[in-house]
Amino acid sequence: MLRQVAEGVLIHQSEFCQSNAVVVHGRAGVLLIDAGIYGSEMACLANDLSDAGLIVVAGFSTHDHWDHVLWHASFGSVPRYGTARCAATIRDQLSGPHWKDSIAGWIPPDIVEQMSWDLFGLITGLPAGTAQVPWDGPYIRIIEHQAHAPGHAALLIEERGVLVAGDMLSDVLIPMLDLDGTADPVEDYLAALRLLESVAGDVDVLVPGHGSTGGADQVPARIGQDRAYVHALRDAQVPSDPRVGPSAKSGWEWVSGVHARQQQGLARRSARDGTPG
Ligand SMILES: [Zn+2]
Repeated sequence: MLRQVAEGVLIHQSEFCQSNAVVVHGRAGVLLIDAGIYGSEMACLANDLSDAGLIVVAGFSTHDHWDHVLWHASFGSVPRYGTARCAATIRDQLSGPHWKDSIAGWIPPDIVEQMSWDLFGLITGLPAGTAQVPWDGPYIRIIEHQAHAPGHAALLIEERGVLVAGDMLSDVLIPMLDLDGTADPVEDYLAALRLLESVAGDVDVLVPGHGSTGGADQVPARIGQDRAYVHALRDAQVPSDPRVGPSAKSGWEWVSGVHARQQQGLARRSARDGTPG
């Protein structure tokens, strides 16, 4: 079911990890951001769109993780954009001889069963530094950073005051650092939060990749919460964060395990490099 969050901007939330697919109305059709998870849900979204007389004219993936690069044949064969780094990373993943097995290892089996592998991760990389999504619709600013995944993009739909944050600023997921990818994952994360903070004043509606949407007040609140978490992680402190420990929402208890693994991962990195973080 589609829910309008701003004029011409709708979301479709998956049962898997409250993943939010975002539909943006343009002049000739819609842009679909992080299209969805279950094949049945994407088929349902495609039906809703065609019932409304809308066609999909382009897609966009905020980053290269499996739950953001799925697609359904009923959306049609249209360009599916991502940043240059995002596209290069997924291309690398798809180039190995056993790529399906290694990617499938991350995905719940009931989703793997209904996946269309030939449409998986077909991302067209935009030239490095591209500032806006190339499409016939409202101006959408690309805010690229290196937190969470290489070339992660948040999208600011300026005329509508909507920030599509990708896998950041969630009320249920803690910041998940890219501990394998970058030289300084803590600083990369903090830098990304500063970037998002620089546009916070233009945002009326926040749509995270997973979790609940929020109003203008939620942008600084979640930036503050994420920054406090990253500081606690960096300083090997116990975070006082409602998303971790006994206060985690029902069904999200596994997030505490992610926190424990991030602590271990950072400790291993600093032991190896002899530097904090
Ligand atoms: Zn992700």
